[in-house]
Amino acid sequence: MKINTSEFIISNSDVSKCPKEPLPEYAFIGRSNVGKSSLINMLTGRNSLAKTSGKPGKTQLINHFKINENWFLVDLPGYGYARVSKKTKEVFQGFITDYFEKREQLVCAFVLIDIRLEAQKIDLEFITYLGETQVPFCIIFTKADKISRHKIAQNVAAYRKALLANNWEEMPQHFVTSSTEGTGRDELLQYIDDVNQG
Ligand code: GDP
Repeated sequence: MKINTSEFIISNSDVSKCPKEPLPEYAFIGRSNVGKSSLINMLTGRNSLAKTSGKPGKTQLINHFKINENWFLVDLPGYGYARVSKKTKEVFQGFITDYFEKREQLVCAFVLIDIRLEAQKIDLEFITYLGETQVPFCIIFTKADKISRHKIAQNVAAYRKALLANNWEEMPQHFVTSSTEGTGRDELLQYIDDVNQG
């Protein structure tokens, strides 16, 4: 897919105020600092569509961007500041769980995971929550340029193992990306295109 237009539409903390247009929607979420803004900018080819910064927790709202006039890219707040031992429902602000539970246009959630780290409890809990809520999701590993190819393969395998230990039967669809090198861009956009074509 070639991205011709990407347009900021609205930010809010109320699902009922999200755009009414029945376009398919893809949500991006992950721990603060995982590289979400960088990835969104890399995908859309825009330097500052999503705000990147060293400052954690900057985007605290549901942000809708319309892409090519035919789908929404949704930038959700980063998580990870609440205590890890808390349940997802308590970790997330209510409007985020509302989003996952009520937003009918949501086609797929992309859960971003820093490829360098071993599986984090809060991510595994969140993935479990998505499973329980029956939200289709994919995993996007970020910052792949920071480790060797060999290590990438090792870490993806270790993540698979962690998911299987968490009651998943198989590794979900996943992508390995680097925002600095553009890695994974074509695959991810192709995936979205394929899902949009049905
Ligand atoms: P967010 O909080 O999830 O939106 O994360 P940002 O996109 O703001 O990125 C957090 C930090 O990681 C910034 O310093 C980015 O420059 C850096 N970063 C993000 N993605 C990549 C990547 O693919 N490769 C490298 N080397 N650094 C990255």
